[in-house]
Amino acid sequence: MNDYKLIAELLFPNIEKTDEILKRYPSRDLNNGEQVTRFAPSPTGFMHIGNFFQAFISYNIARQSDGVFYLRLEDTDSKREVKEAKEIIYQILEKFNVFPTEYQTLEGKDIGKYGPYVQSQRVNIYNAFAKKLVEEGKAFPCFCKKTEGKEDVLKLRENKFIEDNEKEYDPCRNLSYQEVKEHLDKGEKFAIRLKTKNDGSQRVKFYDLIKGEIEAKANSKDFILLKNDGIPPYAFAHAIDDTLMGTTIVVRGEEYISSTPMHIELFEALGFKPTSYCHNPLIWKIDENGKKRKISKRKDPEADMRFYFSEGYPKESILEYLLNLINSGFEIWRKNNPTLSWEEYKFGIKDITTVAPVFDIVKLNDIAKNIVVQISGEKLFDNWVKWAKEYDGELAEELVINKEKFVKLCKMERDDTAKPRKDIYNYKMLKEYFSYAFKKPKVVVEEKDIFKDFITNYKNSFIMPNSNQEWFDHIKDIAGQNGFAIDNKLYKQNPEAYKGNIAKACEFARIALTGQKSGPSLYYIIDALGESEVRERLESASKI
Ligand code: GLU
Repeated sequence: MNDYKLIAELLFPNIEKTDEILKRYPSRDLNNGEQVTRFAPSPTGFMHIGNFFQAFISYNIARQSDGVFYLRLEDTDSKREVKEAKEIIYQILEKFNVFPTEYQTLEGKDIGKYGPYVQSQRVNIYNAFAKKLVEEGKAFPCFCKKTEGKEDVLKLRENKFIEDNEKEYDPCRNLSYQEVKEHLDKGEKFAIRLKTKNDGSQRVKFYDLIKGEIEAKANSKDFILLKNDGIPPYAFAHAIDDTLMGTTIVVRGEEYISSTPMHIELFEALGFKPTSYCHNPLIWKIDENGKKRKISKRKDPEADMRFYFSEGYPKESILEYLLNLINSGFEIWRKNNPTLSWEEYKFGIKDITTVAPVFDIVKLNDIAKNIVVQISGEKLFDNWVKWAKEYDGELAEELVINKEKFVKLCKMERDDTAKPRKDIYNYKMLKEYFSYAFKKPKVVVEEKDIFKDFITNYKNSFIMPNSNQEWFDHIKDIAGQNGFAIDNKLYKQNPEAYKGNIAKACEFARIALTGQKSGPSLYYIIDALGESEVRERLESASKI
């Protein structure tokens, strides 16, 4: 046995051979064009819109090619309780129906043949491959103290930078079997570092499926493969997992481009075929001062995917908005296919944006309005209740108790018209939107005397209308009898002769009943509020 083999045996006794592991992960049986993608979140207890964006791209690539979308939890860096963070990730994927076909359940059961789908349960695999690299002289143990969690030599050496041409002075790079044994006998912990074959003069080329060929300086750092607790940082786990689990396209944020040369060297060292990458831009936002900056977990509520649920956006609106960010062609497709599900939309990898998308809530709201407008009144009510049950229990109760009233309001100018109003974009806003249905209106008017006079007469002659026409005919009569012009032409010729026009009279009635100056036809509101409530409101308004 050469020194490398002996050293490897000393460091990792009794560990499964990589050949055995490789047998457990046979290549996937893929038909032409089927892609295997994955979502590989670190469980932080939060899902950033940028992460979901990548998950959604991955999901679509797999879905469009009849391939596989799997979930791998990258929890090796996690110092916190993973369970809750895992739940948040699953909940969000489930709610959006962007769910993987292979994953580990919350109870810890692996669904799929390429598990475990949680990195902390794959440590033996990483150790086995680290051993192999040590055996082959491609990696070495490092006994320096500062290796925990630190990824590069720079930090490792208490900030003394090791130049490419100084690697020979590295105290651990060329340890003999005897020296390694001495360290271990003293009970010292070790990390494993790559022994790079590069000296800083090489360049590397790799291909990004959306950005094309990228050329960069090849890695020349002896970076850490396993920390001294046996856990790998991102790079090593990525190369091993994406190979064993059969990923055909790695979709990840473009912040990983700069470390791709490290990954390429690792794939080579491990004898693996490098994977294909699709690096996508982060999502930006224009802040209050007009400055463009990355959407931030700390500053922007909309960075957290849970925001969209607590605001009550229909889930399709978020998915469609993200499709818009992924590829601007979606908007044209949507215009041409207003009633098809977004799932019918297909885009190629080449169509994915290379330009950093800017988050725009106005645009999102527009998309949501177009979706809400297609929902029937009854369904709108059901969705509202469903949302309220989760986010506003009191409201949910009120809605259920007064179902008839609220269903009528939801149906208003929606179910019986070819041109429904397009101003609702989420369920949270409905309470304010229908505020007059929850509380008695606050009546504020300028021409108080004329108002009181008219409302008193309206109240005294009020009859519950059976149709919009009946309601309008009636208010017209009362307005006419009270000195309002019912013919607008006449009114315009001589406005002084009247207290106002018919529109003014209707506005008064609306203020009395809702406290608002404009809104949907009053007939529907009267019908929803019911006769006694209408009479009561007219009564109080006549006494202001
Ligand atoms: N766990 C990494 C992250 O959350 C995954 C990156 C990747 O998709 O490869 O950034």
